Amino acid sequence: MADQRPRDLYDVVIIGGGPAGLAAAVYTARQGLTTAVIAGELGGQAQWASQIDNYLGLGLISGGELARHFRDHVDRFDVDTFQGRHADALVPSQGGFEVHSREGLQLNGRAVIIATGRAPSRLAVPGEKELVGRGVSYCATCDAAFFRGQRVAVVGPGESAAEAALQLTTLDADVVLITEQRELRASSALIAGLAAAPRLELHTESHVTSIEGDQQVTAVVLRDGADREVTLPVTGVFIETGSIPAEELTGGLVPVNEAGEIEVDRSLMTRCPGVFAAGDVTDQLGKQVIIAAGDGARAGVAVAKWLQRR
Ligand SMILES: Cc1cc2nc3c(=O)[nH]c(=O)nc-3n(C[C@H](O)[C@H](O)[C@H](O)COP(=O)(O)OP(=O)(O)OC[C@H]3O[C@@H](n4cnc5c(N)ncnc54)[C@H](O)[C@@H]3O)c2cc1C
Repeated sequence: MADQRPRDLYDVVIIGGGPAGLAAAVYTARQGLTTAVIAGELGGQAQWASQIDNYLGLGLISGGELARHFRDHVDRFDVDTFQGRHADALVPSQGGFEVHSREGLQLNGRAVIIATGRAPSRLAVPGEKELVGRGVSYCATCDAAFFRGQRVAVVGPGESAAEAALQLTTLDADVVLITEQRELRASSALIAGLAAAPRLELHTESHVTSIEGDQQVTAVVLRDGADREVTLPVTGVFIETGSIPAEELTGGLVPVNEAGEIEVDRSLMTRCPGVFAAGDVTDQLGKQVIIAAGDGARAGVAVAKWLQRR
C-alpha cells in the first residue's frame, strides 16, 4: 500500500484507516469500485492495545499484529491509500464529493464513507500516556477480563465508569471508583448495583494527579476532597471519562447526536445521500474492533448498491 497519484474521480473515498475503513476498502475494491483510503495512520486505535482477545478467529493477539493483518489484507486489492493525511473538509460537488486534507491533497468521490473513529478523552496526568496498554485502559469491555481478581481503579463521572466498575466487580476484582463529583451520575439501577458490590471503594470529590509504575501500573495517586494526597496501590486504571468522535471535518453536512456521533440508517447511510459512516464514529452500539470491521463491510456493500441504483 503505497501513496498513489490520485485518480480524477473515485467511486468511493474512505476517510479513516482503522478496522471500519479498511474492511470497507476490501468490500468496495472486491466489488470493482475504484477506492481511495485517506487516513492519519493505517490500522486505527486498536494498534495501541497490548492484547486483543475478542476478535473472532484470532484468539489472543496484540493490537499491532492485528492492525498488520488488516493492512496486509487491504494490500492484496487495488486500493489507493493516502496515509499521513488528515481530511479537514468534505464538500458536495457536481460529481459527488470533494475530500480535502490539511496537507493539500484533494480526493474526489462519487460516494464517501466516513470511518474516522473516536479519540478517548484523557486525564492528561503524568504516567497516563506512558502506561497505556500496561495497565492504563480506556475500554473496560476490551480489557476488564485481563484484570480478573486484581485491584484496579476506575476513573470517571458517570454511567460508563459505573458500568466498568460493576463489570470488574463481577470478575472478582477489588475496585476503587474515583470521581471528581460529589456523587456518581448514573442510573439508579447502576447505583444500586454498586452499593451492593462487596469489594468496591468509592472516592468522591477526588481527582487523579498521577499514575505510577514502570513496566506496569503499580498505583494511582489522587487528591481527595480534604486536599490530601492519597496513593492507592492498583495494577490497572480504567479511564472512563468519555470519548470524542472524530467527525469535525463534515462541517454540519451530516447530522450528529448529542454525543457528537454521526447518525446513520440501517445501511449506514447518513442523512446526506452518498455519504456513509462506519465504526466508532457512528451512533451505533458497541465501540469494538469486530463491530467496526463489520460496519465497514456493511457500508462497503451498501455503497455499491447505492452507486448501482444511480
Ligand atoms: C488502548 C485500546 C485498546 C482497545 N482494545 C480493544 C479490544 O481489546 N477489543 C476491541 O474490540 N476493541 C478494542 N478497542 C476499541 C477499538 O480499537 C475500536 O473500537 C476500533 O478501532 C474502532 O475502529 P474504527 O475503524 O471505527 O476507528 P479507529 O480505529 O479509531 O480508526 C480511525 C481511523 O481514522 C483515521 N482518522 C481520524 N480522523 C481522520 C481525519 N480527519 N482524516 C484522515 N484520517 C482520519 C485514523 O488515523 C484511523 O486510521 C481498544 C481501543 C483502545 C484505544
